[in-house]
Amino acid sequence: MTALSIVVPCYNEEACLELLHARLSAAAQKSVGSDYEIVLINDGSRDGSWPIMQRLSREDPHLVALDLSRNHGHQLALTAGLDLCRGDRILIIDADLQDPPELLAPMLEVMEREQADVVYGVRRSRAGETRFKRATAHAFYRLLARATEIDIPVDAGDFRLMSRRALNALLAMPEQARFIRGMVAWIGFRQVPFQYDRAERAAGETKYPLRKMLRFAFDALTGFSSAPLKLASHFGLLLSAGSLLIVLYILYAFATGQSIQGWTSLMLVVVILGAVQMFVLAMMGEYLGRLYSQAKNRPLYIVQEIAGPGQRTGRLGQVADAMAKSDRPGVRETLPIK
Ligand code: UDP
Ligand code: MG
Repeated sequence: MTALSIVVPCYNEEACLELLHARLSAAAQKSVGSDYEIVLINDGSRDGSWPIMQRLSREDPHLVALDLSRNHGHQLALTAGLDLCRGDRILIIDADLQDPPELLAPMLEVMEREQADVVYGVRRSRAGETRFKRATAHAFYRLLARATEIDIPVDAGDFRLMSRRALNALLAMPEQARFIRGMVAWIGFRQVPFQYDRAERAAGETKYPLRKMLRFAFDALTGFSSAPLKLASHFGLLLSAGSLLIVLYILYAFATGQSIQGWTSLMLVVVILGAVQMFVLAMMGEYLGRLYSQAKNRPLYIVQEIAGPGQRTGRLGQVADAMAKSDRPGVRETLPIK
């Protein structure tokens, strides 16, 4: 077993990789000497990330790189890396150096001192992010905290240090729609926050466009709360109350001999009803879609190639070993991993 694994999902991060590797290596060496590994996951990048990772893995025996068959998304790429890593302690970090690797040493210290299984980074400030991103993130974490039954820490990302037993618990969770920071909170054990200031991206731009952000938010919400499913009953009650008022109004109008004008009020009712029904249906659709993908039970990700040292343990270990021993170097294999 290795003392420390650093797991980094990367999507189109060619501009960050060299600096990332240098800073991670320095931080790891300072904390644990040479007993560490860096696991980079190439999440179907379209730029030159993979060739750079291959080269780095040839130059540095501490580095192992995993090439996924296509872009599977941040959370699944991270899962692949966590499956492969074999460290006793595991640091999860983004490739863009927004989370400073130098915090590894103080985080290890906190873990030791507090006898914690998880030390999770909490963003005190966020540099270089758009006001829109900051505002939506702020609102999202608070909405989530209200909607969910478990305590998912507010303003915490995936930047965290975990113990092996916490990681094993995480890897035993089979969901396809993964919201890892929530899943870690669900595990329990002793988890302590670690305040830090989030830096700007070292290079490149965010790999989370609005579409991915929304999907991520819905994964979080549907994964940890059934509150949206109860919206229909709330709306139902509200609309019943509204319809009662309308009936009373109509009776009153008849009794006093007024004539009621139709179009405007009718349109209003039709539009409101339509919107509410569609909204509730859409919410149910979000759950149904996730239920469907879970029922299909496909592998979480497909590994195409592994570069770096053989002799792996972990769930991906055999695959890595087989690839390292392969006498057909360069042959790309497709291996589904459950
Ligand atoms: N990422 C990934 N697959 C994706 C999108 C992002 O592996 O489909 C990685 C990305 O390379 C980075 C991390 O996930 O290491 C977080 O992404 P990013 O920094 O773009 O998100 P932000 O910090 O803007 O929320
Ligand atoms: Mg980032």
